[in-house]
Amino acid sequence: LSPLLFSQSPDTTAILYGNTITSADLKKHLSVLASDAYEGRETGKEGQKKSAKYISEQLQSFGIPPMKDGIYYQTFALYPSISLKTVIKAGKKEFNMLEDFYYFRGTSYEAISRTELVFAGYGISDKNYDDYKGTDVKDKIVLILDNEPYNKDSLSLVTKEKKPSKWTKDHQVKTELAKQKGARAVFYVVNDFEKWKNKSKHFFESPSLSLDKPDGSDMPVIFISESMASQLLAASKKLKDVQSAAQLIAAEGPRSEAIKQNVLIDFRQSTDPILSENVIGYIEGSDLKEQVVLITAHYDHLGVHDGKVYNGADDDGSGTVAIIEIAEAFMKAKKNGHGPRRSIMVMGFSGEEKGLLGSKYYVANPVFPLENTVCDLNIDMIGRVDDKHKDSADYIYIIGSDMLSKRLHEVNEKANAWYTKLKLDYAYNDIKDKNRFYYRSDHYNFAKNGIPVIFYFNGTHADYHKESDEIEKINFELMEKRARLVFYTAWVIANMDERIAADKKQENKD
Ligand SMILES: [Zn+2]
Repeated sequence: LSPLLFSQSPDTTAILYGNTITSADLKKHLSVLASDAYEGRETGKEGQKKSAKYISEQLQSFGIPPMKDGIYYQTFALYPSISLKTVIKAGKKEFNMLEDFYYFRGTSYEAISRTELVFAGYGISDKNYDDYKGTDVKDKIVLILDNEPYNKDSLSLVTKEKKPSKWTKDHQVKTELAKQKGARAVFYVVNDFEKWKNKSKHFFESPSLSLDKPDGSDMPVIFISESMASQLLAASKKLKDVQSAAQLIAAEGPRSEAIKQNVLIDFRQSTDPILSENVIGYIEGSDLKEQVVLITAHYDHLGVHDGKVYNGADDDGSGTVAIIEIAEAFMKAKKNGHGPRRSIMVMGFSGEEKGLLGSKYYVANPVFPLENTVCDLNIDMIGRVDDKHKDSADYIYIIGSDMLSKRLHEVNEKANAWYTKLKLDYAYNDIKDKNRFYYRSDHYNFAKNGIPVIFYFNGTHADYHKESDEIEKINFELMEKRARLVFYTAWVIANMDERIAADKKQENKD
């Protein structure tokens, strides 16, 4: 039996304010934020700024004061991986991105120019086979072959076995080794260049954003075609091309060679940041105000592509309007003398679709000390019904509630039993779930820091990350119940005597 640490019956005062969260209000806000005028709310773009303004104006209209300096924003800088150049030259020959090579943007490389290129065989260092033996690659541009060498009996020179080893299965084993050896850049020959290039294409098309200012010191890994590799190796009389280099190794064992060849790699990136904003609504508590209960949702989405506006009504327009309504409910309660004992902070994150960046920035630069942050109730997609629940709509997926805190899980269940009576589906509440939902929204940055979280989620649907994620498809009655569940859970957590404890160790950190 659990000790009776929170009150054992529904609180009629809570219901009074829970009832102010209505499908009509949710719809009113969403019809603004998920309209074309908000241009898909892409991080750093005009539509995102407009959305931040809209959310903060709502907070202001409820009488929630700004955090400081009269603003509701936590502003942060992001660095886009926009290459100013994509140049690789060897002697007079110039190679072309996506024809001869590809690389993954996301790190800035200063221009790298060398007068020689080191061929380091297959880039393997193992007990029976070592391409690096007697070869110094420190600060050099290194070229390595794909997979591993086999002798005429089809046995690997590395393992003496037929089946491929880790050196074939995971190219990062080789690139990590090159990095340890101090290589400045790696040309990695890809045997099936066209296939892998096409598989990776979507990465090249939209620039990524990073919180880290590019510093140019990273070791770029450039995936090159066999044809490009052969042109680079042609300057060596012995190696000639990829095929003959591979044959030499198969016959004679590991081989590396420094080849006289001027090589220039210039992928310099812009270091100009773009600015983005987390929006914060803070409702100060009473006797336990030093402790803060977070209620969060990301308000950014995918923007406009090929003239199509991705309105993200469900993802995560639904969570955004829910936190607006929840903030209003708590503020109304406070104005009527029923304010929360612990402080409530609602936060709209930006940068989520770019890699949980707004929340990542927040946990590194928290407005309140993380040790005073009781929990994060994160809402990401609560306006739709997935296929599994077509015929039993009143459900919500609960993810993470019991990962760090037994009590948080109990409170959420209790709040639901008392007030909302949704079917709580725990199907995705597993760190080993193949969809990895636990890792895929902003709450994870809090969980990583030992703060108990709940992720409220409706599951995926055919319109997920499509331009068809539109307001017409939102089930507002259901969304109202789900938003109220978050409100009631927060209400109990904010008002109970005991603070929710992080009493369980997270099994898996990443
Ligand atoms: Zn989302």
